[in-house]
Amino acid sequence: MIDNTTFGTRTALFHTFGCKLNFAETSTVATMLSEHGVRRCTAGEEPDFIVVNTCSVTELADKKCRQTIRSLHRRHPEAAIIVTGCYAQLKSDEVAALPGVQIVAGIDRKLDIAGFVDTWCADHEPRTFVRPARDIRVFSPSCSRGDRTRYFLKVQDGCDYWCSYCTIPAARGRSRSGSIDDIVAQARAAAEEGGKEIVITGVNIGDFGKGRDDCFLDLCRALDEVDGIERYRISSIEPNLLTDEIIDFVAASKRFMPHFHVPLQNGDDEVLALMRRHYDTALFRQKMERIKSAMPHAFIGVDLIVGARGETEERFERSRDFVASLPVSRLHVFTYSERPGTRALEIEHVVSQEDKHRRTRVMLGVSERLYKAFAKPFEDTVRPVLMEHPRPGHRMSGFTDNYLRVELDAPAELDNRIVPVRLAGLSAEDELFKHCQLV
Ligand code: SF4
Repeated sequence: MIDNTTFGTRTALFHTFGCKLNFAETSTVATMLSEHGVRRCTAGEEPDFIVVNTCSVTELADKKCRQTIRSLHRRHPEAAIIVTGCYAQLKSDEVAALPGVQIVAGIDRKLDIAGFVDTWCADHEPRTFVRPARDIRVFSPSCSRGDRTRYFLKVQDGCDYWCSYCTIPAARGRSRSGSIDDIVAQARAAAEEGGKEIVITGVNIGDFGKGRDDCFLDLCRALDEVDGIERYRISSIEPNLLTDEIIDFVAASKRFMPHFHVPLQNGDDEVLALMRRHYDTALFRQKMERIKSAMPHAFIGVDLIVGARGETEERFERSRDFVASLPVSRLHVFTYSERPGTRALEIEHVVSQEDKHRRTRVMLGVSERLYKAFAKPFEDTVRPVLMEHPRPGHRMSGFTDNYLRVELDAPAELDNRIVPVRLAGLSAEDELFKHCQLV
């Protein structure tokens, strides 16, 4: 165990689960620790601290977090483990009891971790810093830097919707957001570092500005003016908050990419009502059609939960047919898992594991067909690609403006440059154009 009271030349390892928001926040924690003299471990180096930023979206996510913490402790028995994130917020006692865990930091205490480490170095006392999510009011800004070509900029946190199956409001607290000025300043800082693409992230970003005079569209307009950032992507936005004005703005903007990610969760109105979602299938279809009429080439990813309570076979078939008829590009299919404390547990019809898995496979098949139908017409066309540094042993890769993933042989100097690429060799299973060429 570490016995110095100062940070000196300490090292830390970071492990992140879950959403883009978590990745942005881990990056901010790493930056803050480095300002206190705790640098990231290099390959093969033993860490003094391990920061695990957890997710609790499903029962499986909890399990993976526990397994990873145990395995990290086995591999690095001398390291002090610091656990934060949604799982730490919701199950702090369970997390504190895991081997090697010295600090448990709640969802709003991530940016205090450097201070907690300082205290821990003085007395080596394990501590938990978690307060009830309902008491969390402060917005903690985050922007991930340096570890990817893309930047993840957090603009909003928390959610007030309380969908019946979801634990996020209990973990992340009420909806709150940063000020437009602060967020624009972070985007400018990213541009000064050479950043080209920013993904705008949050839990419920369409709720940006709730309780104030500004809204998400105002934020988009302000970000659109930042010199140097050439691409923005809106990470995920609730369909009822995706206004026609936002769609028209993206269609007219040179910097906001024709790429949307919209959670549908179920394609049957009765199940949507049981889920307590804020829209019906008619509204969802209208939004998808509006996007496609303004931007026929736009990529649309859609989240779907399969096998939720109340999803009878008849409702599942309606959902499948609805989804298959949408002009969207890909489904992100999640198999429903029960979450303690959610209102969904009061819904009577429970789907068997066997049916859940069968329905998941059916929806993955629908997704593959949708992707193929969307991507195929782009074969042998030229589109702008932001090139990304290759992983060891891999070729250069990147995404087009409309989120088609490409691979090609190209010089590494093109990393973080936007170049024209001819698309070829579509593999729908891998969702990848494999044999592209620079133009
Ligand atoms: S909108 Fe619903 S599913 Fe999404 S975070 Fe809020 S409560 Fe959860």
